[in-house]
Amino acid sequence: MSAFDDVYAANTKFAKNFGDSGLTGRAARGLAVVTCMDSRIDPLGLLGLKAGDAKILRNAGARVTDDVLRTLVLAVYLLGVERVLVMPHTDCGMAKVTDSDVHALTSERGVDTRSLEFHTVPSQDEALRHDLIRVRTSPFLPEDMPVAGAIYDVRTGCLTPSPH
Ligand SMILES: [Zn+2]
Repeated sequence: MSAFDDVYAANTKFAKNFGDSGLTGRAARGLAVVTCMDSRIDPLGLLGLKAGDAKILRNAGARVTDDVLRTLVLAVYLLGVERVLVMPHTDCGMAKVTDSDVHALTSERGVDTRSLEFHTVPSQDEALRHDLIRVRTSPFLPEDMPVAGAIYDVRTGCLTPSPH
């Protein structure tokens, strides 16, 4: 028994009917989505996408970090991405704590995380505005590339485009 038996067994079934062997690593719909790791988000399903259509970049809080920018550069120049959607969501755990809160919580378990920056989100609106600017003003990405933000509501399934 391993901690992963359930997922390995599920994959055996999945592979029996696998039909995507003809896909390439390019984003067929030219889209990259930056979203949160939240387990309630099904990025392909909620955007009407399927495997092969888009690059999905996920992290805690859907933040545009240095690593997300690095990945977007590769996605644009090597993998067919022509537009970027930054998609945080309602009820995000990252909007409920500060970095100090996280350090305090981990320190209760004897772990000092102060060398990590968690990119917690005191204001989701402000964070999204900031992150969109980061993508739009990156000197490494095309100036005219469409970049949009939208908030996904985990209660209703609705996506609301951001005015930023
Ligand atoms: Zn989240």
